[in-house]
Amino acid sequence: MARLSDPITILRGIGPAKAKLFAQLNIFTLEDLICHFPRGYEDRTKLATISSLQPDVPACFRAMVMNTPRTSHIRKGLDLTKVQVADHTARLNLTFFNNRYAEQLQYGKEYYFYGAVSGDFIGYNMTNPVYETLDSQPVTTRRVLPVYPLTAGLSNANVLKAVRQALAVCDAPEEIIPEGIRERYGILPAERAYTAIHEPEDMAQAEEAKKRLIFEEFFVFSAGLSLMRQARAEKRCPVYDNLNLKPFLGCLPFRLTGAQLRVIDQIREDLGKGTPMNRLVQGDVGSGKTMVAAAAAYLAVTNHHQAALMAPTEILAEQHYTSLSKLLTPLGIRVGLLTGSMTPKNKTLLRERIAAGELDLVIGTHALVTDSTVFSNLGLVIADEQHRFGVKQRSKLSAKGQAPHLLVMSATPIPRTLALLMYGDLEVSVLDELPPGRQTVDTFLVGESYRPRINAFIRKHAENGNQIYVVCPAVEETDGMSLKAATEWAETLQNAVFPDLRVALLHGQMKGADKDGVMSAFAKGEADVLVATTVIEVGVDVPNATLMVIEDADRFGLSQLHQLRGRVGRGKDKSYCILTTHNRNPDTVARLKAFCKTTDGFKIAQEDLKMRGPGDFFGARQSGLPAFRMASLGSDLDTLTVAQKASRDWIEACGDSDTPEAAALRKRIGELFDRAEGTMN
Ligand code: ADP
Ligand code: MG
Repeated sequence: MARLSDPITILRGIGPAKAKLFAQLNIFTLEDLICHFPRGYEDRTKLATISSLQPDVPACFRAMVMNTPRTSHIRKGLDLTKVQVADHTARLNLTFFNNRYAEQLQYGKEYYFYGAVSGDFIGYNMTNPVYETLDSQPVTTRRVLPVYPLTAGLSNANVLKAVRQALAVCDAPEEIIPEGIRERYGILPAERAYTAIHEPEDMAQAEEAKKRLIFEEFFVFSAGLSLMRQARAEKRCPVYDNLNLKPFLGCLPFRLTGAQLRVIDQIREDLGKGTPMNRLVQGDVGSGKTMVAAAAAYLAVTNHHQAALMAPTEILAEQHYTSLSKLLTPLGIRVGLLTGSMTPKNKTLLRERIAAGELDLVIGTHALVTDSTVFSNLGLVIADEQHRFGVKQRSKLSAKGQAPHLLVMSATPIPRTLALLMYGDLEVSVLDELPPGRQTVDTFLVGESYRPRINAFIRKHAENGNQIYVVCPAVEETDGMSLKAATEWAETLQNAVFPDLRVALLHGQMKGADKDGVMSAFAKGEADVLVATTVIEVGVDVPNATLMVIEDADRFGLSQLHQLRGRVGRGKDKSYCILTTHNRNPDTVARLKAFCKTTDGFKIAQEDLKMRGPGDFFGARQSGLPAFRMASLGSDLDTLTVAQKASRDWIEACGDSDTPEAAALRKRIGELFDRAEGTMN
């Protein structure tokens, strides 16, 4: 018997060359191969008659060879072999391209065929069917044939053969779902499922196998989240007994909204419990999450702990640094900034101060979480725009310091089912109120004919002393695409349209320090127009910006548009968002028009999710979710709910038991979360 961890090269027919092709599909071991699931099936189990064949619909049928196959040489590299077959209903001409084997079809003998007739000619014809003798093992006919994801050079038959061998020489992956749960939810045992997914006897069996494997993935994932939650709930941390926020509130230039106060209260309660807080704050763009973070940081510091605030981009980290140090320094809080683009020397210096406890609140990018940052007494970790931080990163954070409190903030309103999946280990607070006086951003959808008017509008805003964002879907022009590219568009605007205005450019391919330079210059009012890609999407705050033009708006997801639009309307002046598009697809236009009328981020997110499915919704790299092999977040959410319940029941009943199943489950959870981290950033 072979082991699951053995390389696939132990299989017949897989040498170094084939192995390289399999490697492109991320298949290295027998286990990878067995977990390479079909993306669909062809049902070749039903036998058709020739007269019932429909053009272009492949089908399986049994027929007798009516003459001796004849091959004619058409030209160099093209041989045609022709033969006629028949059943009791009709005759059919078969043509094979460059397939001398077909000459071996025997006159008077019956075979099973699988192929599609083409209706192009008078009378039926079929090109390149596959066939097998009546007494052969069904491989390409009379069975449900799995269709695998492939790569160039690797055929479905190659994969099929390899998988079949793998299943024959080693056991299926271990069972991780206890029998009781399998029975309750009607779930196949692992062994059966892994075999049936590759070699189902009929479509019903394939479906059963699929159901089990989807259930399994969600079960593992939610069990992992439950275990994390449980482990954290068992942890102890110092009780914060100084929960007086008066000095902090007294320093604010405005009164907090009811929602902000409510959420801050929930946080205060968490901090007084003596177990680490795990809270997600969801709030639409502009709902004032930063103040909630600041309040939490204030409490940590007044209780003699350090706080860390992680932002997804340097720009955002700097912005938080600027606004929070202004706010908190007068209260005696020492604030520091640590980002990846600082010089190594400055980083070292800053880390020394963090380690010595000379800084109370440290703001930074991912650099903050790297292992070389040691805190003297870390009590609170805040992750801003959290959907970019995965489960694994969350758990890595908790490992820092003495079980710090965790506060994550997300501006992407996430539909409940999905939130459960992503944040199953967190409590959720919602900031459902915008600060007073916040005006809606009037949004319009226009075509290219409006260009002169758009330009005039931009000029008017600039002349009023306000600033303008122009967002493009691409950085550079690419062949064959007429998308507005930021680099070229910035040049055009500066040279040809607004020679007298200051046009700046910002895109993701610029160096971190350059990006920061441009962004902070814009924030200081040193440019009138900022042409940018979606790098400005996240959290940047320039209250003086009152107009955003989004070019080729149909290229963006609705949630993304919503985030972008949230960059204007942050100050006292009336703000506008103009979407341009060349796209005339009625659905697209309807979608964008609906967006113009809605300002509710939750509604927009729901719509977006419905339209695109969660993979695109977050962008595969952003979700921090594992790449599920079988489960789809779009269509399998019902199974998710069930699996979640099952995993919770099980963890409660016997999560800490020492059964082989429990051990296998824990191992699998580790692998899944590792894969989640592998897909990040
Ligand atoms: P987001 O939730 O998108 O992170 P921010 O925290 O950046 O929102 O807040 C957006 C703007 O609103 C900032 O300029 C902030 O100073 C301001 N703000 C926050 N809370 C209030 C409030 N209660 N009243 C007035 N302005 C506020
Ligand atoms: Mg924010």
